[in-house]
Amino acid sequence: MVRLRRWSPGPAWLLTAALGVGCTGGPEPADPGRVAEAAGFDVLRRAALSPMEGPVVRYDGYVVRPVSLQVFEGFRVSAALWLPDGPGPHPGVLVAHGHFGEGKSAGESQGPAHALARAGYAALAVDTPGVEEGDLPGRRIHFEAGAHGRALLASAGTSAMAAQLHGLVAGLDYLDGRPDVGPLAVIGASGGAVQALYLLFVDPRPVGAVLASYVPMPREARAGGCACDGLPGWPGPDPRLLAATPRPTLWLSELEQPPPEGLPRSATHRVLPGGHGYSDAMVAATLDWLSDRLGGGEAVEGPVPYTDPARLRSRSVGTARFADLLHPEDPPRWSPAPDLDAPYTVDCAGEGPRVILAGGEAADRAALEAAGFSACTLAVRADEVGLDEGLITQRPYVDRFAGALAAAAARERAVGVYAARAWGVAAEGAASLPEAPPYVLRDPLTRPQDVDPARDPAWVHAPGWWWREDPYAKAVVTGADPVALAARLAATPEAAAALTGREVTP
Ligand SMILES: [Zn+2]
Repeated sequence: MVRLRRWSPGPAWLLTAALGVGCTGGPEPADPGRVAEAAGFDVLRRAALSPMEGPVVRYDGYVVRPVSLQVFEGFRVSAALWLPDGPGPHPGVLVAHGHFGEGKSAGESQGPAHALARAGYAALAVDTPGVEEGDLPGRRIHFEAGAHGRALLASAGTSAMAAQLHGLVAGLDYLDGRPDVGPLAVIGASGGAVQALYLLFVDPRPVGAVLASYVPMPREARAGGCACDGLPGWPGPDPRLLAATPRPTLWLSELEQPPPEGLPRSATHRVLPGGHGYSDAMVAATLDWLSDRLGGGEAVEGPVPYTDPARLRSRSVGTARFADLLHPEDPPRWSPAPDLDAPYTVDCAGEGPRVILAGGEAADRAALEAAGFSACTLAVRADEVGLDEGLITQRPYVDRFAGALAAAAARERAVGVYAARAWGVAAEGAASLPEAPPYVLRDPLTRPQDVDPARDPAWVHAPGWWWREDPYAKAVVTGADPVALAARLAATPEAAAALTGREVTP
């Protein structure tokens, strides 16, 4: 301890020492407010809840019914409410789902929800955006199909995690607004456990959380699974985040493993070996733990029922897409840092001065060749984790494509760049470098609604891109006609000189 005298401890260290936390060997807790800030929780704006309830399915001692909740303007998520008979108030449990193929209908949601209802709890399982009847274009955030959604949300300074947390907060609002529901807690397995933990940081109402089959948090990009549970700017597991957990938690591991580093004293850790999910043993442990905190009843023996997902569907999920909801007051700014080492290939055809063709089609190539250029088609290999890694490390993936474009232009001594659609973003980034040749752009994308996930790459959603004043400011010209664009490129001084065989005069 004498060595400590050599340090110059800051106020945070002194506070920790004064509280005696440092003596236990635990990490210094992170600022709890950092979770909401990293997720960009406040960037998304909630709308009136306007709940809509569907017909009940009756079981012995309780009913189940679909519930639709408006989370954002014109954007509803579906949920299902398990409600015990009697006036209540019944203690309430919010069920966050993981990636088990479905949301509220998955066995990992229904299993605990039916068991809770039999024991006298109200349970509400809420779909995340893009799941079950919410699986619509412009709303997907999970796995490969959700890459555009995750990148778009990040470009506005928010995240897929924030979108999921808002859905859960809407679920808490609904339960909280019911006179027959009492104190609240949140539970979830796998990805649902991640949401349940983070929900404690953004909403004071749950008295605690049960994290079944939990995964390392925050998520690391290359950890496998679904990237929707990443926290931007928090690129891997951090004991300081766990140490900051504001209320009691029950951690249930399906693997023989020690508790994750950083768990605070309020946390309980149990190993219940089995598959990755919400096992019967985990449900029983959940009920035990909740009864101490919410005053619910004992678990009822016997297998739980399974409700046909068709009876849990709500009538409407609204029509809004994420692109319609994003109006950030202070969007992030992309300061291009083109990665000149990014691997690429070019395929040049025709005679004449070279032009890099990025994202173009046959008509673009033909127009360049007709204007006297050799068109060098650029191909850049994408790494399927690269986009999501960029979101959580906050090194935008578009820099890889901007860098490849710049490097190819330099190596081929190109007199110009001809970009199409999404490649305009990379060309604008490459144009931030000195020595960059002039570029023209076909079909500029200026609104996220114009992006076509089937043909445009998700890296097009550069930070703040859709809210820039003049996004393609460095383009010589933008337009829709390949012949006109090639002619305009041919009229730039450098290209004109090269085309007529003259030396370029500075
Ligand atoms: Zn996901």
